[in-house]
Amino acid sequence: MEITSYRITPIAFADPPLRAAFGLHAPYALRTIIEIETDAGITGVGETHGGAQVVEDLEAVRDLVIGRDPYQLNALEALIWPSGDHTARTSTPWTGALRSPARTFGAIEVACLDIIGKATGRPVCDLLGGRVRDQVEFSAYLFYKHAGAGGRFGFDMNPAATGGWSAALQQEALDAEALVVQAQAMVAAFGFKSLKLKAGVLPPDEELRTIALLRAAFGPDVPLRLDPNANWSLETSQRCARQLQGVLEYYEDPVDGKAAMAQLARTVDLPLATNMCCVSFEDIVETFQQGSVQIILGDHHFWGGLRATVELARICRVWGIGLSMHSNSHLGISLAAMTHLAAAVPNLTYACDTHYPWQDEELIVGGKLQFQDGALAVPTTPGLGVEIDQTELARMHQQYLDCGLTHRNDEIEMQKIEPGWAAIRPRF
Ligand SMILES: [Mg+2]
Repeated sequence: MEITSYRITPIAFADPPLRAAFGLHAPYALRTIIEIETDAGITGVGETHGGAQVVEDLEAVRDLVIGRDPYQLNALEALIWPSGDHTARTSTPWTGALRSPARTFGAIEVACLDIIGKATGRPVCDLLGGRVRDQVEFSAYLFYKHAGAGGRFGFDMNPAATGGWSAALQQEALDAEALVVQAQAMVAAFGFKSLKLKAGVLPPDEELRTIALLRAAFGPDVPLRLDPNANWSLETSQRCARQLQGVLEYYEDPVDGKAAMAQLARTVDLPLATNMCCVSFEDIVETFQQGSVQIILGDHHFWGGLRATVELARICRVWGIGLSMHSNSHLGISLAAMTHLAAAVPNLTYACDTHYPWQDEELIVGGKLQFQDGALAVPTTPGLGVEIDQTELARMHQQYLDCGLTHRNDEIEMQKIEPGWAAIRPRF
C-alpha cells in the first residue's frame, strides 16, 4: 500500500472564555486535521494541535510521507522524528517545551493506524495490542470562566442555548459557589465520576475553598484533582498541600520544574502528577531519579503518537509511576484516538482528562461522541471509528481563516479584558 495524498487543514471552533494560569482562552480554539489517502482507496484521519507553526511542521514532511507504505511506521518515524535529534523543541505557553517532530509524527501515525485498521477490519486499539477495557472513563474538567460561549458569541450568551449543559457552559464561574454549580451541571449531563479543577487562577485560598465545596457537594467517593499549572510558589504549594492532604486524588503541577516538584514531593503527603515537567522521553530519567512525580499525564499528541504512549505506559509500570491522560481543547478525532489508546493500556487506571464538553462544534459524521456515565464505549468498527464530515471541515477551515488567530496566546486574550495583565509564574 502506498500513500498518494496528504491533506493538512487548519481549523478553528468556538471555545468559551476559560481561565488558566496562562490567561484566557481565545474565542476560537485552533486544531489541525490530517487526511492521508492511499492507492488502496482508504483514507486515514488524524487531529493535532493548531496554528500556523503546526501546519508548517506538517507541511515540511510532505515529501517524506507521499509514496510511503502506511504500515511501515518505524521507517516513517526514523525519517520524521529521527532518534538522537532532540533539538527541535517548540515552546508553547501552556505545556512548556513540546517536541515538534514528536507531535508531527504522532499526528501522521494516528492517520496511518486509521488506514491500517480500515484495511484489516480491526479497531485501532487492536493494533496496539487489543483492548483491556470496553469503556474508557473521563473526568469532568472544571474551569473558572467568564460569561459567554466563545466563537461569534464571544462574551455574550448564545440565546439558542436554553437548557442543559449548553446553557450551563456559558455561565460565568469566578468563585467557589459558581464552580460547584458548573460541576453539578457537567456531571448531570455527562455522568463524570471524578472532577478536575483548573487552578492557578484565583487566589489559592479561594481555590482551596472551591475544592472544599466540591468535596461537600459530591462526597468522598468522587476523586478530586487540582492543577495550578505551576502558578504557585513552593511555599504556597506546601501550605496548600496541608489542606489538600487526604482530599485530592492527585496534585498536578503546583510548582514549576522537576527540581521544585521533587522538593515538594519530599515535604508533602500527596501524589504529585505532571504534564509540564515531564513531556518527553528525554525527561524521564531525570524526573524519575529525582522523584518529582508519582503520576504522568500522557498525551499522544506530544509524546509521539499512540505507540509511543503505549511505550511510556510500560516505562511507568516498571518504575511504579501512575499514568493518567492530559488534554487540550479538541474535537472527536482526537477523542476517538485517546479512547483507543486508553483501551489498550492496562495501567491507565485514572479517568482521562478531556475538554470535549466545552466544545459545541464537531466535524465528525454523526456529530459529537456521547459519554454514558462519564465513559466512552471503545469503538468496535475498523480504524478510529470516526469519519470526517467534509462540509463541517470546510466550514471550520473558513472559520480559521476568518478568525485571524494563527497561534494560541492566552496572555494577549487576557489583556483584552485586563489591560497590562502579564502571565508571570508563579503568581501566587
Ligand atoms: Mg495539567
